[in-house]
Amino acid sequence: MKYYDSDVVVVGAGIMGAFTALRLAQRKRTVFLLDKGDIGRESTGRCGGGVRQQYRDPAELPLAMKAIDIWAGLAEEFGEPLEYRRHGSLKLLHNDAELEEAQARVARERESALDVDLLTPAEVVDFAPAIGSDTDLTGGTLCMTDGTANPLLLARALGPALDRTGVHVNTHEPVRRFIEADGRVVSAITDQAEYRAETFVNAAGSWAAGLCRSLGLDLPCSARKSQLLITEPLSPIIRGFISFGNGYIRQALDGNLHLGVRGLPIDVLEKSLTYSALIDAGRFFPKIFPFIRNINIIRGFTGFTTWSPDGRPIIDKAAGLDGFYLATGFCGHGFCLGPMVGQLLAEWICDGSSTLDLSQFSWTRFNQIKSNAKSQPRED
Ligand SMILES: Cc1cc2nc3c(=O)[nH]c(=O)nc-3n(C[C@H](O)[C@H](O)[C@H](O)COP(=O)(O)OP(=O)(O)OC[C@H]3O[C@@H](n4cnc5c(N)ncnc54)[C@H](O)[C@@H]3O)c2cc1C
Repeated sequence: MKYYDSDVVVVGAGIMGAFTALRLAQRKRTVFLLDKGDIGRESTGRCGGGVRQQYRDPAELPLAMKAIDIWAGLAEEFGEPLEYRRHGSLKLLHNDAELEEAQARVARERESALDVDLLTPAEVVDFAPAIGSDTDLTGGTLCMTDGTANPLLLARALGPALDRTGVHVNTHEPVRRFIEADGRVVSAITDQAEYRAETFVNAAGSWAAGLCRSLGLDLPCSARKSQLLITEPLSPIIRGFISFGNGYIRQALDGNLHLGVRGLPIDVLEKSLTYSALIDAGRFFPKIFPFIRNINIIRGFTGFTTWSPDGRPIIDKAAGLDGFYLATGFCGHGFCLGPMVGQLLAEWICDGSSTLDLSQFSWTRFNQIKSNAKSQPRED
């Protein structure tokens, strides 16, 4: 067994863990970043690419608004194209109840200085002419500073950026458990080595709860299988990121449409594409975008989203256990937040506090975090 010492060990090289490690290293901390696979190849690299501020839990909005400032500079920081574009996000409203909810939401978001508009059905169709003329619409909400980025390009850019900053990245090395002594976490154990540090960050996405169990900590998150279907490339036809009750759609720069279907609650983390994804796509998308009826789906893939009971992430330090931070439960919208969450966690770890208030993301809002039994993480 090898032994490594560092200031911080970050577990999980998704967008949360990678940005936390990057910002910590920029603050001159020695950091090990460990992943069971490759960098950014789970939810982060498999996501819909929406970089969206509107239509969020109010507690997340300040993070999302700061996050898009970071997104604006990332391609230059990494020296790589990320296909980040601010071409708007449109949320379609199909009935009076949705319209009423949207009126209240838009008023609240505008009070927070978000530039978001409530559109009439005619204005919705002006923005998205591909919407069928007989689609039931009561309106839409449009935020033009929202946009999209290419998740795979981000995943590819993170590795060199981490290297340049001096983060020690060990991939294909799953953490099996954490070790606790005298009220603090002291090491993370893999099959190859023991990683000792002052501070640990559990950013293992849908696997974070399993790792918490190795410390006897209860993390009340569940997983959903979220699936994307990719069509053949088309000339430009869809602008921005458009979501509706049963899915969302964006058009990548290379012309392919990305169709996101409803997430399925799951117990086992396995990545086969389900037949129900195709059924959903066939049932819901042509109703709104009739042209899709004649378009070929050429591939699809699955990722996992991690859900807290109230749909808000958990970004916290474990109460009663020193040196253990956690960032997970980002549901279907952590891609936008990741760069900001990494910055805030690095501030908290280095300065003892963060520049934005994270108290609404506390772990203890659900329960006592200590559970009765310690167990090993599952390997699915
Ligand atoms: C289909 C889909 C569409 C989505 N669309 C959007 C969108 O449009 N906009 C948006 O903002 N968000 C979207 N999301 C959500 C977003 O992708 C996630 O919220 C975000 O990527 C979570 O990042 P993460 O770093 O917490 O998790 P992950 O990216 O899953 O990273 C966790 C990492 O931990 C590693 N790991 C796990 N266990 C261990 C272990 N024992 N040891 C070492 N490493 C371990 C994993 O290998 C993984 O790399 C979508 C997600 C999916 C699946």
